[in-house]
Amino acid sequence: MTLSPASPLLSPEEIAVRAGQQIPYLQLPARASVFAEREMRLRQRAAAHPMRDFLLFTAELAHVQHELLQSYPEVALPDAEALHAAAHAAQAPLPAAGWPRDGAWRSGFRSMLERLLPRLANSPAQAVVRALSQLSDAELEYQADCLLQNGQPDLDLAGAPLIAAALQMYWTHMVLTLQEARGTARDAPFGRTLDVTRCPCCASLPTASVARVDGSGGHYRYLHCSLCSAQWHMVRIKCSHCESTKGIHYQSLQPVTANRADSSAGGSPHDKENQPAVEAETCDECRHYLKIVRMERDISVEPVADDLASLTLDLLVSEAGFQRHGVNLMLLFGAPDSEGGAR
Ligand SMILES: [Zn+2]
Ligand SMILES: [Zn+2]
Repeated sequence: MTLSPASPLLSPEEIAVRAGQQIPYLQLPARASVFAEREMRLRQRAAAHPMRDFLLFTAELAHVQHELLQSYPEVALPDAEALHAAAHAAQAPLPAAGWPRDGAWRSGFRSMLERLLPRLANSPAQAVVRALSQLSDAELEYQADCLLQNGQPDLDLAGAPLIAAALQMYWTHMVLTLQEARGTARDAPFGRTLDVTRCPCCASLPTASVARVDGSGGHYRYLHCSLCSAQWHMVRIKCSHCESTKGIHYQSLQPVTANRADSSAGGSPHDKENQPAVEAETCDECRHYLKIVRMERDISVEPVADDLASLTLDLLVSEAGFQRHGVNLMLLFGAPDSEGGAR
């Protein structure tokens, strides 16, 4: 496998002009499909994958997240005044760090463990689930703080994906409920915020970019929130970390020869023309990278699933000296770094 530059794309300006004309800034997740599509994609990518067991475990987790999200209990939400104040200050109205979490998320977490346990037949993950079900409210809240706030060294990495999964349900539910409750209100609950590199709903970092295809065949880049699954628009060929438009390159896992079969053993999925559906967007200015998954090359890509299933690309890009910018709460890499959240 080799690093290769991407094919030429439209300039950011061309994209921006189109974007301003016709596309929504936000794509909110759908309650009925956000976790179900993730589960489906994880199962698809797990086949013959070196990380098969882990991908199937996260698929089971996504299955339970989907079930519980369909009838999530009522939770406390910001009122109209708080929403107006956040909008006025161009801040996310449900910020992950420091948000006064409703205790319902802990009940959601415990229900999730109960439903998950029988689905993990003979998996070593059962022991982790059992241990987590013994955590007190205070211990659980502390682990959640470690996950959502910067610079917390005591995160339990084994339990983190499960606690994160419960927080994802809770935040996704809050975003969806605010949107659903909007009704005929004049102001939308979410809009552009000052920091365009973070989620406009919850101020979390993205997991990856997704190049979406609209009805007229246009391709637009959105950043996919690692916590609430909202997607917000950012022009293409622009660093999602330092916002530079210079020195942006696309790296992928390419087959060594053009005729080689699809790299089902861990590489990126390829379509018939052998174009990779997962690439890393690297920035020469700040030396960070974020993956991008391209629907025009494979319509079933899902940012969280495809990010997990393309770890080989992370290894290749970090060997080339780039630092990961995306956060995948299902697979955290050690301690949080100095500039924003665990990774
Ligand atoms: Zn978010
Ligand atoms: Zn950069």
